[in-house]
Amino acid sequence: MYEVYALKYAERDTTACQFFYREPSHGPITLHYFVWLILGGPHPILVDTGFLDDEARARGVRHYVSPAAMVERAGVKPADVPIALITHLHYDHWAGHSQFPAAEYWIQRDEVAFWTGPFGRSPAFRQSANPDALARLVTLNYADRVRMIDGDREVLPGIKVHRVGGHTAGLQIVTVQSARGTVVLTSDAAHFYRNVEKRQPVQIITNLPEMLAAFETIEALAGAERLIVAGHDPQVADRFTPVDSGIIRIA
Ligand SMILES: [Zn+2]
Repeated sequence: MYEVYALKYAERDTTACQFFYREPSHGPITLHYFVWLILGGPHPILVDTGFLDDEARARGVRHYVSPAAMVERAGVKPADVPIALITHLHYDHWAGHSQFPAAEYWIQRDEVAFWTGPFGRSPAFRQSANPDALARLVTLNYADRVRMIDGDREVLPGIKVHRVGGHTAGLQIVTVQSARGTVVLTSDAAHFYRNVEKRQPVQIITNLPEMLAAFETIEALAGAERLIVAGHDPQVADRFTPVDSGIIRIA
C-alpha cells in the first residue's frame, strides 16, 4: 500500500474572475502550488516538478520553497526519484524538472504535441508556458528520459495515470491505492474543489467538453472514500493531515 503526500512550494493571490470560467465575482482567491510524492513502493514516484526560482520572481508568487527542497524535507533525495509523472506541461508543473536529475518523465503524447505544435505560441496559451523548459523536452527525449504515453497506463501495480485532457491537450490525472482507499490526484483537472464539486470550469482550456467529462472521471475514480486532492486548493490542508511545514499527508 502506498502513502501519498502533497508538498506545497508556493502561493499566489488572484481574483475569481481571473480564474473561473465566465465568473463575474472579483473576490480574492489564493492558489497553492504543489508537487505530490508517492512512497511505499519499490521507489518513490513524484507527480509534477513545480518551477524554479526564476519563475517565482517573474510571476509574483510568495512563500516559494524549491520543490526539490520540499521532496528532501519529505525524506527523499531529489536524485533518488526515478519516475516523475508529469500531469501537463504548464510552467508550474514542468519548469522545475531539472531538479530531479535521474527522473524519467512520463507525459501524454498529446501534451508534448500541443506545446511543440502550432498553438503554443498564441497569447491564449503561451502565458502558461516556460519555452526554455519546453525546448528541453527534445534533448531529454534523446537522452531516453521522456516516456510519451497515449491514454491510461499502469505505472506500478496500484498506481495509474488517466488521460483526461480539457484544461490542456494531454492532461493526465493519477490514482494511487492507499490503506484509506483510492487517492485521486487531480492536478489541474480540478484546481479547486469548487471546480469538480460545482462542475465549474476554469478559463484556461483547450477542450471544454473534455474538462467537464474530467469532473465525472474524477468522481468515478474516487468512489465513496472521496480522497480527491485538488491541484491548487488551500483546502487540501484542511481536508487532509498537515504533518510538517508544507507537507500534507493524504493517505
Ligand atoms: Zn497548475
